[in-house]
Amino acid sequence: ARRLDIDRIRADFPILGETVNGKPLVYLDNAASAQKPVPVIEAMDHYYRTSHSNVHRGAHTLGDRATVAFESARETVRAFINAASTREIIWTRGTTEAINIVANGLASMLKPGDQILVTHMEHHANIVPWQMVCERTGAELRVVAVTDEGELDRQSFSEQLTDRTRVLAMAHVSNVLGTINPVREMVAKARAQGVITVIDGAQAVPHLKVDVRKLDCDFYAFSSHKLLGPTGIGVLYGRESILEQLPPFQGGGEMIERVTFEKTTWAALPHRFEAGTPAIAEAIGLEAAIQYFDGLGREAVEAAEQALLQRANELVETVPGMTVMGTAPHKVPVLSFQIQGLHSSDIGTLLDQQGIAIRTGNHCAMPLMERFGESGSARASFAFYNTLEEVDQLFRALTKLQRLFAG
Ligand code: PMP
Repeated sequence: ARRLDIDRIRADFPILGETVNGKPLVYLDNAASAQKPVPVIEAMDHYYRTSHSNVHRGAHTLGDRATVAFESARETVRAFINAASTREIIWTRGTTEAINIVANGLASMLKPGDQILVTHMEHHANIVPWQMVCERTGAELRVVAVTDEGELDRQSFSEQLTDRTRVLAMAHVSNVLGTINPVREMVAKARAQGVITVIDGAQAVPHLKVDVRKLDCDFYAFSSHKLLGPTGIGVLYGRESILEQLPPFQGGGEMIERVTFEKTTWAALPHRFEAGTPAIAEAIGLEAAIQYFDGLGREAVEAAEQALLQRANELVETVPGMTVMGTAPHKVPVLSFQIQGLHSSDIGTLLDQQGIAIRTGNHCAMPLMERFGESGSARASFAFYNTLEEVDQLFRALTKLQRLFAG
């Protein structure tokens, strides 16, 4: 099998050469946002230097150039997740906005007593929009339990999926635990009884091959910035037959067919959900990110990431009092942990002094933290461009902190 040439890859990410607090940067906060390779930065730069104009206005050559590039990016995204048509690919600001578009749209179809099923490991982005829908419609929020290992409880799922369930909204991969959920199987069960399925793929797309037709979900959301692309853009995939029934999210230009003061008719898909001038350069940047990522080879990326995770798992026991949240046998390279006697935010600050960037806190998953009886965790999240030496550096620093401050 192909292996990643890690030195060459790291050279593609200029920021990895930065110095932080006098130390070489060790960037282990990839689940929050990934760094950007030169081809992404250059694609956006090139677009602004040569082709920028507003899209879909058709009045002049630059406008056509921008539109072609923008729609080409949409096709790249379609192929990336194997959607059936570009009509099913809607540009959003990110995962959060994508889920809000779906929740807002489905609200028009829900009534009191209907149930929306989420899981105990959701990011706030896949909880709060549904709570707002419940407020508006009288629907009820139900929750699939999480086991001590950080996996979804199958028994609980069977119990919570009732004949009143209308929507199943769940993460493909947990941003705290790294758990890869059995989405295909759960979607099949839900769809068998007519439930609409919404998958939060924010943490899945950077690690797994996602095929929305294989998953057979109705909606799938992800953000560009976690996938080597720019901030400010994300994707909502929606099954065409359901998108057709969904009311628009925002009103304005681009999303209409005809406007009079008496009545406005909506534009065809996907533009109906894209009011206003879109994030054009960002779409082009995301296309470059997908091309870069695909060029590395899936298996090589996964092998590199799993090697990092394995090394980290092996080193956990070398730090006295260190415990890991989320011990599923197959997970993405995310390590959430606590160290007895040390507050997670102090771990973050002390590591930062060593140039090591991790994230601490509740990771926008307060219900999950509460489930584990914690107020927060420290989270190291790896990407294929991290090295085994960086994992070792993290653990050397943790061992030292533990000895100095908790020992
Ligand atoms: N869901 C999950 C699982 C996430 O990890 C994140 C990002 N932390 C989001 C949703 C929200 O993504 P964004 O902030 O890009 O909209």
